[in-house]
Amino acid sequence: MKIFINPGHGGSDPGAVSKNGLKEAEVCAKVCDILANRLKLNGYSYQLYQQKHSLFEVSREENESNSTLFISVHCNSAVNPKAEGTETWYYKYSIPGGNAAQIMQKELVKNLGLKNRGIKSSEDLHVLKRTKATAILIELAFISNSKEEILLREQPELFANAIWEGIKKIKESI
Ligand SMILES: [Zn+2]
Repeated sequence: MKIFINPGHGGSDPGAVSKNGLKEAEVCAKVCDILANRLKLNGYSYQLYQQKHSLFEVSREENESNSTLFISVHCNSAVNPKAEGTETWYYKYSIPGGNAAQIMQKELVKNLGLKNRGIKSSEDLHVLKRTKATAILIELAFISNSKEEILLREQPELFANAIWEGIKKIKESI
């Protein structure tokens, strides 16, 4: 099993930015660095890649990587400051993607204790559609929600750990 980890956004694209200036791309990079280290210590094969210019780099790197599981990590954002919780996305026509999303979402909710927004499918999210591995995209929490922003800023290891628990469960299911 090889895992491709993609911290969302990067380069000139900061992703969503909280009202305190916390950038989604930086949160995702931090969470994914901790996660990558965890994978390394446990002998997992993995690749970590954050885009510099465009999403096409991500799918190109992934297509050449021979990965089995692709995980893109993001933070959600909404105009409503009360919007909260965790959700996991998969490509609409991928049955393994749907299964992996379900397993990951369950572990995220269990380990983070945030509101369960469920799994969601998309027909056109590039990194889900154009990757070869079983692919999921995680929205950890809302950077636009002041409580969740604090968690994202101060406890990246909490999120990395929750994803790690999900990876172990997905591995058992393959
Ligand atoms: Zn994002």
